[in-house]
Amino acid sequence: MPTIKQLDDALSNKIAAGEVVERPASIVKELVENALDAGSTSILVELTEAGLTSIRVVDNGSGIPADDVETAFLRHATSKIQTDRDLFNIHTLGFRGEALPSIASVSYLTMKTSTGTGAGVELQLEGGKLVKRAASPTRKGTELIITNLFYNTPARLKYLKTSHTEAGHTSDVMNRLAMSNPSVAFEYIHNEKQVLKTSGNGDIRQVIAQIYGRSVATKLVSFEESSLDYQVKGFLCRPEVNRSSRQYLSVYINGRYIRNYAIAGAIMQGYHTLLPIGRFPIAVIQIEMNPTLIDVNVHPSKMEVRLSKEQELGVLISSSIKKAFQQTRLIPEQQQPK
Ligand code: ADP
Ligand code: MG
Repeated sequence: MPTIKQLDDALSNKIAAGEVVERPASIVKELVENALDAGSTSILVELTEAGLTSIRVVDNGSGIPADDVETAFLRHATSKIQTDRDLFNIHTLGFRGEALPSIASVSYLTMKTSTGTGAGVELQLEGGKLVKRAASPTRKGTELIITNLFYNTPARLKYLKTSHTEAGHTSDVMNRLAMSNPSVAFEYIHNEKQVLKTSGNGDIRQVIAQIYGRSVATKLVSFEESSLDYQVKGFLCRPEVNRSSRQYLSVYINGRYIRNYAIAGAIMQGYHTLLPIGRFPIAVIQIEMNPTLIDVNVHPSKMEVRLSKEQELGVLISSSIKKAFQQTRLIPEQQQPK
């Protein structure tokens, strides 16, 4: 029997990368979430060949203090939580301290970061190993450039779909992030072509118009309701504008895009018979709740969550959607679905 040995950092980061860094779109998601957690108001994402040639993310957030830059690339190093109590009271999109070391372990990565005071820092890593550290200009914010993605994990590289499909995944990620952050100006460029640009003026309707088109945006019904534990609000597209997949249901809890079967079911119940069978609505729904009622630490991608009081939330969602349609006279009062 071989002896039991703890894996070195490079190898354990590569293993973690298998979960956090599935494809270019997951890298974009992690980097943009970091930019948002850093308080950025303007975020540029630029990809070449769907990210296989390069991924560049530039933000105007807090930057990382020069003394902390290397630490950010250590596994489970984070500025966002400290104690186990914090783990059940998450106010940021990130908290696992896994993205940067994972991404760095499967690519060549350059980071330039500055807090705006003193000298900024430029780091270059290859497969997670530091190859250069230098002073960098002091514009406040952070820039990351990733090249040679998956150069040392050939199986992962092979698993990637066509450039077109991968670029589509990144578009989905950018759309979701833009819809939940209307006060942030996003720009997404792929192969030198602008795919998405939002103004950051706080108007979700405008972001929805940019993503789904003006005609969808003119068919939106807004709603807002609260219960003791939850506040739900958002935009529902009138039922005549429907789609053949659930993909147009965007649900956010405390600003985090999530997928949850029960919540999707409650939305469908809210629309009730207004939708033809097998058709799904376009909706952007934001749920705010006390972070202690939600466990986001279910999967590394943090898209799955566990909720306490899920039933209360479901009832609130479906009843508030029904009410919104009653108020717009889409459901006559006497035919109110139960
Ligand atoms: P997490 O986001 O879970 O904390 P990451 O590996 O994604 O872990 O990032 C590690 C740390 O690096 C973060 O906690 C944060 O302090 C810092 N960081 C990463 N990206 C940025 C950024 N764009 N701006 C400012 N700080 C950042
Ligand atoms: Mg992060």
